[in-house]
Amino acid sequence: MPFTMNIDNTYRKIEKGERINKEEGIFLLKNGDLLVMGELAHNIRMKKNDPCIVTFIMDTNLNYTNICHSKCSFCAFFKNERDGYTLSVDELKKKVMEARQNGVNTVLLQGGLNESLPYSYYLDLIETLVSIPDIHIHAFSPPEIDLMSRKSGKSIEKVLIDLEKRGLSTIPGGGAEILSERVRKTISPHKISADRWLGISRQAHLLGFKTTATMMFGHIEKEEDIIEHMDGLRKLQDETDGFTAFIMWDFKLGPTPLSKEVKHPATACEYLRILSFSRIYLDNFSHIQASASQGNDVRQTALFFGADDFGSMLLEENVMKAAGFSDHATTEQVAHIIKDAGFKPTLRTTDYKIIRSL
Ligand code: SF4
Repeated sequence: MPFTMNIDNTYRKIEKGERINKEEGIFLLKNGDLLVMGELAHNIRMKKNDPCIVTFIMDTNLNYTNICHSKCSFCAFFKNERDGYTLSVDELKKKVMEARQNGVNTVLLQGGLNESLPYSYYLDLIETLVSIPDIHIHAFSPPEIDLMSRKSGKSIEKVLIDLEKRGLSTIPGGGAEILSERVRKTISPHKISADRWLGISRQAHLLGFKTTATMMFGHIEKEEDIIEHMDGLRKLQDETDGFTAFIMWDFKLGPTPLSKEVKHPATACEYLRILSFSRIYLDNFSHIQASASQGNDVRQTALFFGADDFGSMLLEENVMKAAGFSDHATTEQVAHIIKDAGFKPTLRTTDYKIIRSL
């Protein structure tokens, strides 16, 4: 007699703290009740993290170049060599100093995949920026590390060691989108494969780097692709315990080829369903961020659907802005939103060390 899955059995398994497998994950994602999933995810979060606080970070996102040869179909940020820019090391140093004066303690540094930049540019950049006091540099996603490896002819391990020697210790998990080849072939065919993304993250973890894991949904992916993505992350986390957090956002319609293929942008309910699912499925991740991609009202609601962290303030953000989306909030506004939800707003570092509560 064929085995029939029962949603109540899946809920009970989660309540008991048991890990769900891929098949149960797909079944839950397709059939789970939003509010039940939210409650299960919130209960896990309240046990796993300090139930009184919600953390956030004061950071800025600096994009050192918008020239990119990858031409992902969802991206409104990249330009060709003629129309694009590349900031010099001195220009970036000035921007970081300005950000520091505005209370920022972390700089998220990412850029387009600009094949013209020499390897020495990345090393000089890190060496210069890490020497600025009271600022943590969180830089270069796996596709950028891959580009450095190709430019220099060095292995991923050697590139990471070069960056580590210049003072880099944490790496953002950008460029993951959906870690499924079916999806990547369509939305980012020139970017590194899912296996390469996971391999670079693994290598970074083995050398002692802490990294984050990201996901961009709400385009052509199916539930099976989301499971493939999260299962890859969960397996790697079992192996290395190197991911600090999972951060997801939804694809924004904008002046991009992919926008023509997407009929409906992700709704608040879809966002909250997948967010709560991530807290359940990624049972070996400590932190799940509530991102700003659905606006601050949904971000606040996300604190009851598995998220324990409010992410970043992003004093400067250019990638989502290029697609016509911007939702900047001041520290006071973020603190108010968190307090209003019943938690103590608490500043943290990139590696989730508590700085102070507000
Ligand atoms: S998402 Fe990144 S890699 Fe893709 S085109 Fe935009 S800047 Fe380039």
